[in-house]
Amino acid sequence: MIPPIASRFVAGTTASGALDHVSECNEAGMGGILNLLGEHYDDPEPAAEDADAYCHLVSELASRGLNGSVSVKPSQIGIDVGPDVFRDNFERIVETAAAEDVFVWCDMEDHTTTDTTLDAVEATARDHPHGVGVAIQANLTRTRDDLRRLADVPAAVRLVKGAYDEPSSVALDSKSAVDDAYEDHLEFLFREFDQGVAVGSHDPAMLQVAVDLHKEYGTPFEIQMLMGVREDAQRELAAKGYEVNQYVPYGDKWMQYFYRRIRERKENALFALRAVVGV
Ligand code: FAD
Repeated sequence: MIPPIASRFVAGTTASGALDHVSECNEAGMGGILNLLGEHYDDPEPAAEDADAYCHLVSELASRGLNGSVSVKPSQIGIDVGPDVFRDNFERIVETAAAEDVFVWCDMEDHTTTDTTLDAVEATARDHPHGVGVAIQANLTRTRDDLRRLADVPAAVRLVKGAYDEPSSVALDSKSAVDDAYEDHLEFLFREFDQGVAVGSHDPAMLQVAVDLHKEYGTPFEIQMLMGVREDAQRELAAKGYEVNQYVPYGDKWMQYFYRRIRERKENALFALRAVVGV
């Protein structure tokens, strides 16, 4: 059972509760991107179990007729066990999802996993064109090369600023540098990509850049934001006719995710404090 304080950011502990949340997103004109919480398994069994859970989830999305996709963390389906385990599990999820016409996103974790993640996504995308997408992080210095590589792959890209603390040898060293890189990479994506651009950001400045680039290049795009973050803006953007997809985490491993949301922003911490002290 998730305490009310965390339920702003996490859609319950069960798949059925999370699917109900996607249904509510659909009623508000948005899609839902389901993420079963879990990461860093170093045994193959839990990795296979979570891959099974995603296979079940895509079937449920399809049988309920929901506008939804899934987003998988590499370390949840075996990247820490070995590249082959990760790739096999990812392919299994994508095959099941493709049969149900459900899209599969792959989250991106820290920079030590980028090559293995991209290799698996590229191989799977070539077998299932336009059925998969991958998150790419603007804070990494390698990112333009990765985007050039992906420009020839039938996979969508979700551009994010990057959530992991990375060493300065591989990452940009200031928030303003990351923001500038994000804008530059968005321009590259709108210019070079016709296979799907997702703007994974809550930042109004980045969303405005995307809207302007869409006017300039005509490239279709979607906006992705997290459950519980700027939800009013999500609904307003959907009402204006933008494609908005909400990232919806669920599952019994909610604690770590919830504390990450609380730590990253003062407003979220105040929200938590108010819920605790009742002001
Ligand atoms: P920030 O730079 O954090 O914020 C910029 C501005 O956005 C703020 O000044 C404010 O105006 C607005 N804003 C941000 N948060 C709030 C808030 N809570 N309330 C009100 N206004 C706010 N990272 C990864 O490394 N790998 C992934 O696979 C990944 N997947 C993601 C998927 C989605 C759908 C999203 C939205 C993010 C994902 N991230 C991922 C996280 C991402 O990398 C950033 O850490 C996170 O989104 C914060 O960056 P930001 O672009 O939202 O803007």
